[in-house]
Amino acid sequence: MNQSAQSDGFATRAIHAGQHFDPTTGAVIPPIYQSSTFVQDGIGGLRGGYEYSRGGNPTRTALETQLAALEGATHGLSFASGLAAEDALLRAALAPGDHVVLGNDAYGGTYRLINRIHGAWGIRNTPVDLTDLAAVEAAIEPDTKILWVETPSNPLMAVSDIAALAELGHRYGVLVVVDNTFASPALQQPLALGADVVVHSTTKYLGGHSDVIGGAVVLNDVQVGGEELHEKIRFIQFAAGAVSAPMDAFLTARGIKTLDVRMQRHSANAYAIASYLQQHAAVERVYYPGLDTHPGHELAARQMSGFGGMISLALRGGEPAARRFAESMRLFQLAESLGGVESLVNYPSEMTHASVRGTELEVAPNIVRLSVGIEDVADLLADVEQALAQL
Ligand SMILES: *Cc1c(COP(=O)(O)O)cnc(C)c1O
Repeated sequence: MNQSAQSDGFATRAIHAGQHFDPTTGAVIPPIYQSSTFVQDGIGGLRGGYEYSRGGNPTRTALETQLAALEGATHGLSFASGLAAEDALLRAALAPGDHVVLGNDAYGGTYRLINRIHGAWGIRNTPVDLTDLAAVEAAIEPDTKILWVETPSNPLMAVSDIAALAELGHRYGVLVVVDNTFASPALQQPLALGADVVVHSTTKYLGGHSDVIGGAVVLNDVQVGGEELHEKIRFIQFAAGAVSAPMDAFLTARGIKTLDVRMQRHSANAYAIASYLQQHAAVERVYYPGLDTHPGHELAARQMSGFGGMISLALRGGEPAARRFAESMRLFQLAESLGGVESLVNYPSEMTHASVRGTELEVAPNIVRLSVGIEDVADLLADVEQALAQL
């Protein structure tokens, strides 16, 4: 037998949910069903319900079962990218004229999607400071349908109160969505805190090895406009077609199996580096929720079971120092993205957040973001130290 149960612990579910051995050969790892279509035993006689891989593929089903189990949810849907997942959710939940409230430090690509793509189809939005509940309440309009929460936020690691935001959103009949990419379900469980929907860029911690792009929407039963939201999203996944390919689904499922241990190591390494940075003379400010100087530290300690692997820092030497620091690192490779086993350094104002320059989501030019990997912490600390010594 290889059945995972809802009562299993997180690490057990991450390894076993949806990952049944192959009944014909006994292969412990289910095969990658690299097939676009499925034979029918007579017209309409489907084996296992599969017809054509845009509509469904067993490797994708295995991943979707695993994704739902990670968040303790009933439904998981997997997509070709995090933004494709967000797009499907937005299309399913919104109609022209509707309004979205989102964080004023939301992931740049999310803002671009909501503002420019959905904006062109009549969706309005208001960016707001999600740590200020009164400001969030004031931003809610009669047509507001979604409150889009990202915590910790990117790149400034602001921590917002999921339970309080969920309660506020529900008071106004608003769907509360949490982008759980930065924390991952190993450290934060938004549905248990009252959120309606979780989205992920599985490209980051879930995949965990910087080798695959993907996204997910995870939710329980919730109605929107008299219909089940998961059914509307499933229809858009099928009808618009931004699905995960079988090999991508396999790589993501494989990554997820080690998520729990990886997040523990990411968190421990990041804490050591953030503590070191905090006492360094060249550093003006460190943004890491694990530090007790962080304004969201107590809240993060309550709603997360670890503080994660993402750190941002502001350098006293302004833009030249930030650029020099980012370009002087040896093990931290200069690249966009995050959440892989290897450490990365990013200069948000010109890399990940270039698309929000000149908007209220703009990132200051002295900020550098670190995605702390799971290498030996002594080597990572030495790298940070030598790069700071060059300023
Ligand atoms: C990367 C990222 C996304 C977008 O995901 P893609 O897989 O790149 O499409 C969304 N939200 C957050 C917080 C991200 O870091």
